Amino acid sequence: MKRRDFIHISSLSLAALLVEGCEVSENFDIEFKNDMSVGHLALESLKYPITHKLQTEYLIVGGGIAGMSAAFKLRDQDFRLFELSDILGGSSSGGVHGNTPLCHGAHYDLSYPSNYGKEALQLLEELGIIQYDQFSDSWKFNDKKYLISKNKESQTFAYGEFRHDVLPDGAEKVAFVELMKSYSGKMPMPTRLIDEDFRKLNNVSFLQWLQQKFSISEEFIEGLDYHMKDDYGAGANTVSALAGIHYFACRPYYTKPVELFSPPEGNYYFIKKIYDNLPKDRIATAHLVKSIREEVDGFEVEVVNAAEKTIALVSCKKIIYAGHKHALKYIFAKDYPIFQKTEYAPWVVVNFVLNSSWENTAYLSDRQAFWQNEIISEDKSLLGFVDSQAQFSTDEAKRVFTVYFCFKSEEREMMSLIGERKQVFVEQTLNHLEKYFDKSLKKYIAKVIIKQMGHAMPIPKPGYLFMDGNKLRSNKNLAYAGVDNGRLPLLFEAVDSGISAVELLK
Ligand SMILES: Cc1cc2nc3c(=O)[nH]c(=O)nc-3n(C[C@H](O)[C@H](O)[C@H](O)COP(=O)(O)OP(=O)(O)OC[C@H]3O[C@@H](n4cnc5c(N)ncnc54)[C@H](O)[C@@H]3O)c2cc1C
Repeated sequence: MKRRDFIHISSLSLAALLVEGCEVSENFDIEFKNDMSVGHLALESLKYPITHKLQTEYLIVGGGIAGMSAAFKLRDQDFRLFELSDILGGSSSGGVHGNTPLCHGAHYDLSYPSNYGKEALQLLEELGIIQYDQFSDSWKFNDKKYLISKNKESQTFAYGEFRHDVLPDGAEKVAFVELMKSYSGKMPMPTRLIDEDFRKLNNVSFLQWLQQKFSISEEFIEGLDYHMKDDYGAGANTVSALAGIHYFACRPYYTKPVELFSPPEGNYYFIKKIYDNLPKDRIATAHLVKSIREEVDGFEVEVVNAAEKTIALVSCKKIIYAGHKHALKYIFAKDYPIFQKTEYAPWVVVNFVLNSSWENTAYLSDRQAFWQNEIISEDKSLLGFVDSQAQFSTDEAKRVFTVYFCFKSEEREMMSLIGERKQVFVEQTLNHLEKYFDKSLKKYIAKVIIKQMGHAMPIPKPGYLFMDGNKLRSNKNLAYAGVDNGRLPLLFEAVDSGISAVELLK
């Protein structure tokens, strides 16, 4: 795509990077993490020697929530898990800066109603993460310190004005909430449990469907777009009505309290809990599964060790493929057509670590800190930030702002600009925060970490949900897991997908 053409479709933050001669006023200490350099590693590995052979019963591709949940189910069996990144978690990964925990992706989950899938609930209970609460008839989180109190949950900053909700108040909102209430209790997770009667809602866009019910203003559509993009990577006109309704009706939001659980490392908390229960010698990070070849009684898999620049040939009987399906065209081309239509939204997550702990950042604002700060502005790719001041914190931890960007899939190729012009991108991002706080922040920033994810989130467009690739897979000993297998991009779906894949291979 020519840069000129790109400007027409680009969100402002990327377009700003194209402006030659755009200088920065501060040099930030920036760490750049990018999952888009896989192609380069695959190419580079053509020169690497095959140094050893391994055997295992089960091979798991990918250490996101789905792959890790599959590993947990197989923890007493002969398995190996390979994760290409140097850290587990995928879009639910996290890390630390000194004593400060960081979240590089998924940030939260909510208490689970009792009509959710028993398999995933049981796994989370076995890990000691949740327990059933008879009083509320729901599954609640055990680590109470990570619950976000209601009065700190969220605030919206729309075109320079603060308001309490993304959806503007008024008659439209009343009508919309009434409509969503009528689906409450009927939208379980995993989505495979959704009743047949509702599945036709998967064939039309959320906006089209809503417009058949009542007329909706541009301002209200902007609010809906924000919500859909925040959880599903695209606006209300792109995602299905079923996905949209599920967002607003999957928990009893309108009748009961729903707990919001957000540890400072985000959903990496779940990854760590699973990892603590696995045999460590079976899990390898910085290992790319490069190719899968069928054999008479199993598979031969080429695995690249990125650190040592070597290749291992792994013989296995069964495979759980919990990596991104778009890469199947290089790894196992035979099954690629099954997933060919899936469209992914690219995301970028930026952690700004301040140079003081949150108790000492009163200079920033005398307003109360909110956990989620939704920003609606001309820059449609920017969604806002999570402020660690509203989360549990230790004395040693610094205050962190974690900023989220969701780009259009057609912008993916141009995202390399972020790596090329990191300082400019950080300064542009900081401008948004400075508008929010109405203050210059540059001197308070100790460290910036950018995580770029090219195929971060499958977009649940009409027709996408329930397209379970396992029904069409070519080899009964290779099963697919992950949210990009006809599921909503949510933690509970990912957990369930890992469990289901193991069940299929039994
Ligand atoms: C920015 C962001 C915020 C989100 N926030 C939330 C949230 O707050 N709550 C929520 O419930 N959900 C959230 N989600 C959705 C999130 O995607 C899911 O919750 C879940 O983490 C998806 O897990 P997964 O295992 O299906 O996929 P992924 O997390 O994408 O994991 C796939 C893994 O496979 C690895 N891999 C791929 N190919 C190979 C290969 N060839 N060899 C070896 N390894 C490979 C990848 O590196 C990756 O680690 C968010 C997503 C994004 C992008």
